[in-house]
Amino acid sequence: MIAVLFGPPGSGKGTQAARVSARIGIPHIATGDILRDEVARGTALGLEAGPIMRRGMLVSDDLVVRVIEARLLQPDAARGALLDGFPRTVAQAEALDAMLARRGRGVDVLVALDVPDRVLKERVLKRAQLEGRPDDTPEALELRLATYRAETEPVLGHYGAPGTRVERIDGVGSIDAVTERITAALARGHEQAQAS
Ligand code: ADP
Repeated sequence: MIAVLFGPPGSGKGTQAARVSARIGIPHIATGDILRDEVARGTALGLEAGPIMRRGMLVSDDLVVRVIEARLLQPDAARGALLDGFPRTVAQAEALDAMLARRGRGVDVLVALDVPDRVLKERVLKRAQLEGRPDDTPEALELRLATYRAETEPVLGHYGAPGTRVERIDGVGSIDAVTERITAALARGHEQAQAS
């Protein structure tokens, strides 16, 4: 199953994707984590992406598409993947669809976490104190939220067409409660993918 966990910065995608992927046995693939690892290792890719990420801007579609393409070719992704932080633009969604179509596949289900801006800001500023991520400053967060509305939300409309099941769920609640909602939404999407 190819699943996308979708939502604004601070919506809990990373936390939830790790839990859900362990439960359903498909790898969690997070472009943010892959890019942060490249930055930490000081690779050419990391040197290119680091300054952009710190400001809260998106790195180029071309760069993340290359990253995802390489990751999806690894053997553990043969059974499927739970994507987190990708696709983040309509161009990325189109590139993903094309790379999956070459293997006769597509995105089976997209689960979108709904969380109000006020809650997102509280969560991210709390994370800033705990983890010190360089893009969790109030300025970078404003930019990330604005970019999400302008560039990323339209991806929902892209997958509104037949073929991918779009499940919108309430992302406010305890971590366990949200994990249950996501797992149930993925199971509904999986059933539909099997049936079609
Ligand atoms: P969050 O969703 O909480 O903002 P992520 O860990 O998913 O954080 O991403 C952190 C940063 O990595 C983004 O702000 C962006 O600079 C970069 N990034 C991650 N995924 C993508 C993507 N698909 N396209 C462009 N940039 C990305």
